Amino acid sequence: MNLNLLEECAGAKRIGISGHVRPDGDCLGACLGLWQYLGKCFPAANVQVFLEKPADIFKSMKGFGEIDTDFPEEAAFDVFFALDTSVDRLGDAEKYFKAAGKTINIDHHVSNPGGGHINVVRPDVGSTCEIIYDLIDLGQLDRDMAQVLYVGMIHDTGVFQYSNTTPATLEKAAKLISYGFDFPNLILETFYQKSYVQAQVMGRALMESIRFLQGACIVSAIDKKTMEFYNVGPKDLDGIVNQLRNIEGIDCAIFMYETGTLEYKVSMRSSEKVNVAEVAAYFGGGGHARAAGCNLTGTFHDCVNNISLHIEKALKKWEAEHDERDNSH
Ligand code: AMP
Ligand code: MN
Ligand code: MN
Repeated sequence: MNLNLLEECAGAKRIGISGHVRPDGDCLGACLGLWQYLGKCFPAANVQVFLEKPADIFKSMKGFGEIDTDFPEEAAFDVFFALDTSVDRLGDAEKYFKAAGKTINIDHHVSNPGGGHINVVRPDVGSTCEIIYDLIDLGQLDRDMAQVLYVGMIHDTGVFQYSNTTPATLEKAAKLISYGFDFPNLILETFYQKSYVQAQVMGRALMESIRFLQGACIVSAIDKKTMEFYNVGPKDLDGIVNQLRNIEGIDCAIFMYETGTLEYKVSMRSSEKVNVAEVAAYFGGGGHARAAGCNLTGTFHDCVNNISLHIEKALKKWEAEHDERDNSH
């Protein structure tokens, strides 16, 4: 990875930045972190972030209010960045990416084939914010930049608890909190805190969850009617799949919500036994080994049946490999 951000952007008058549809903390942190950095290093350039409207929990992040959520027609950008995503999940920002003079794709999804003129795809790194940290001149780091990059790190590592957390992650996080932003509050407000209805919907999803594959898997779904009843959107369902994954004995948790008639957004979380990135990729989605997602069509039962075949295969493969290892010792 020898991408030199400042060299690549030198002389650019208009720089655009975007990330994936339904932006999460990492996507948002990476976009706002890079936006702050390039704005600081190139004060004469026009640097813009385009994203679908992120959840209000992120409003304390510098630049939140300046995100363009309308995706208007724009003249071609000199440089355009796609962060925390492959090009096919850029949504309405894809048109800017396609028209730009130079495109740079920075991501950590193993499923990303690299769609830019320049690609930095590092599946070994826990968050795109951590990659951005590696790419910037740390002499330019300040409190606001540190805060937004920290948000991305905590979101994609589950506040440093997932296996994608490395000693390097913690060293970078240590440097970031030395800038003195209010990290306990940030963790509470952007990660753990739920509104009352969000907690109710989560409770309902947990209550209606079903275990299968001898208790190794769990699935729950929220349909459109229920979302309308509670007046919640997709952003309000974050965290449900992690809660399912935390249940004792579960190797793979699946949470789905209805996006249209016979259409579901599916989220998967797993232990080391199942590579859910592979399962998601089979259905045209993507993600990471322990956290991935895809969109499926069919009834709830069709979707679960289709996914469960792949999970069962992965579990059997893991067990066969471990039996072999046990026998050879
Ligand atoms: P989610 O279940 O939406 O929290 O997503 C888990 C991980 O998988 C995140 O890193 C997402 O960016 C990724 N992911 C989710 N849905 C898709 C999809 N349809 N295509 C590619 N990656 C996805
Ligand atoms: Mn993301
Ligand atoms: Mn990410």
